[in-house]
Amino acid sequence: MSLPKYELKEGVSLIGIQLPMRLIIKRTARIYEGHGKVLVITAGTEKPDDHGAGSYHPFGYAIDIRVNYFRDGGESVYKELQAYYESKSVTVIFHKGHHIHIHFNA
Ligand SMILES: [Zn+2]
Repeated sequence: MSLPKYELKEGVSLIGIQLPMRLIIKRTARIYEGHGKVLVITAGTEKPDDHGAGSYHPFGYAIDIRVNYFRDGGESVYKELQAYYESKSVTVIFHKGHHIHIHFNA
């Protein structure tokens, strides 16, 4: 079985991403594959202005992922991620019309 593919949006960095997030990226890419899309990470550990205080991003424990290429706006992939990560110390937040945020509760 080949490794699931994923892409980084321009300007996005995974430098300093933590091990649990690497596993989460692989699993999430696989779930996206099942929905017919290549996972695109739209925010990682880089320091954009919109990662507020208390954000998991600068510490390598969060990613944001694309939803705008799904016909249903990401509703069904969100539900699958939610179900999969429930009870795994992983929080999945759907910012409708923008992205899905996933972080590991370190
Ligand atoms: Zn985020």
